[in-house]
Amino acid sequence: MNPSSSLSRLARDRGGSPISDLMKRALDNPRLISLAAGFVDPASLPIDPTRRAVDAVLGDPASGRKALQYGTTIGDPSLRSRLVRRLELEENALPGQFEGVLPRMVVTNGSQQLLYLVAEALLDPGDIVLVESPTYFVFMGLIEARGARVIGVETDQGGLNLEALEATLERLEAEGDLPRVKLIYTVSEHSNPTGISLAEDRRAPLVELANRWSKDHQIFVLEDAAYRGLSFSGREPSSVWRHDEEGRCVILARTFSKSFSPGLKTGFGVLPEALVDPVLSLKGDHDFGSNNFAQAVLDRALADGSYDAQVAWLREVYRTKCDVLLGALEEHLGDVEGVSWTVPTGGLYIWLTVPEWLDTGKDGPLFSRALEHEVLYVPGVYAFADEPGPVPTNHARLCFGVPDEDQLREGARRLAGALASCGEH
Ligand code: PMP
Repeated sequence: MNPSSSLSRLARDRGGSPISDLMKRALDNPRLISLAAGFVDPASLPIDPTRRAVDAVLGDPASGRKALQYGTTIGDPSLRSRLVRRLELEENALPGQFEGVLPRMVVTNGSQQLLYLVAEALLDPGDIVLVESPTYFVFMGLIEARGARVIGVETDQGGLNLEALEATLERLEAEGDLPRVKLIYTVSEHSNPTGISLAEDRRAPLVELANRWSKDHQIFVLEDAAYRGLSFSGREPSSVWRHDEEGRCVILARTFSKSFSPGLKTGFGVLPEALVDPVLSLKGDHDFGSNNFAQAVLDRALADGSYDAQVAWLREVYRTKCDVLLGALEEHLGDVEGVSWTVPTGGLYIWLTVPEWLDTGKDGPLFSRALEHEVLYVPGVYAFADEPGPVPTNHARLCFGVPDEDQLREGARRLAGALASCGEH
């Protein structure tokens, strides 16, 4: 009997994650320095603030019982209204200005769940999602699982290139495919995988563009701001979402995973009116409510100021780690022709470019040399959609989240060694 014969088509077609295979390799060799895992810095995880928040939640019987009981699908009311008030501050709005946002504020199991729910609510097989080239590869996987098409749009130093986006939409219209375009996806802040943010002066025009191209149906913009808060300069422009004055175009996806703790696996979304009921009813099928205890703990940490203190500290931690890796790349690869890298505005990632003839893929020469040199990266090919092609094969994502400063220096040295050994052949 074929062991997979009882599986659904979805499960059969899905396949394994390329990244989990990479992670396994990292675990198999303790000497390996992994610049691959997109994990946060383990040393700065907020143990004390979390303990204080847990004690406060459980210290009071009423709040303890509430936190340990089921919650509601949309999320904890206290947390949701606190998040709306925080959005007013972050987005330079007046107090009370976002009151109307509250019914559209949904707490989710990390932002990943919101991305999934949005895909589930919007995409039928053959529908089209436009993404940045390169983009967050996990999202592409879940679009493809729905049988939808992913089409990449060029990016530059300012993130998504709006002229290229416009040209893609014109081409799709000419081909008769415009009615299938449902979503434009942007990782607006300190992107995974490039570390680059969407330029401030592209944010309002992106909303205008999506609305202008919305003919028979709304083309939504999914703003994945997973790394918001982790800016090295401490300054971030208003979200794309802020420019959606009518609240009908932009889906904002946020998370506490990067700015506080991925273990709490809590995020939130602000949805356009038309998506609230569909997303909530799908979310009800998933879980009828996210982890209520984690929501209560986060609500406490936000209320007592420890969340803000943690984020302020994390910005320093990551800026220092990023500088260390940038410095080491400069030292070991600065003079190598055809090699360059992005200078991130924040977040956890640097995007490396190597000469075009050098394939960074899992079966290419650099990857196996890197493993011999005991350093791991994520091959860039995963971050590109197949369309419009061809997919560039000379990039790598480097994450400075997990390794300490010495390991970052050594990791860059090993990577340079691996690269040099490819040049010899
Ligand atoms: N979006 C981006 C761009 C990410 O990098 C990640 C995590 N790697 C997520 C969403 C999902 O994170 P979480 O579900 O933990 O919020």
